[in-house]
Amino acid sequence: MNLKENMINIKNELSMNEFQNQVEDVLIRHKSILDIITKLEEYTARINRAVIKSATSCGCIKITAKKQNYNLDSLEEIKNNLESHVEGELCPGCKEILEEEIGAYLFYLAALCNTFDVDISDAILKEYNNIKTLGIFSLK
Ligand SMILES: [Zn+2]
Repeated sequence: MNLKENMINIKNELSMNEFQNQVEDVLIRHKSILDIITKLEEYTARINRAVIKSATSCGCIKITAKKQNYNLDSLEEIKNNLESHVEGELCPGCKEILEEEIGAYLFYLAALCNTFDVDISDAILKEYNNIKTLGIFSLK
């Protein structure tokens, strides 16, 4: 089995519980809640930085922000007319960097969950049920 096939197999089989358990097994240096919380902040900034550098340094995307139009008749109509303000797509290099930052963020999010005995799958499931029940009216 080559590396790509192995990655696909892992991707299909990895559960959030396994990820959370693996984080528990390997977290040593930043075990303190103070380290975990500040690492989450650091990786939030690094995710933002990766997006900004894609526009300002690489140039594979362009961000053209303007006021959103909420002056429409229905939520469905508003939803269909909202813009991300992103033009273009991340190049493979920028996407790889963004994935790395998101992965590190998820590592410390799982560590936070472990500290307080929160099952990350339960948190995802509760949020999923919430947005599924409220649908467009969750207003997120
Ligand atoms: Zn790029």
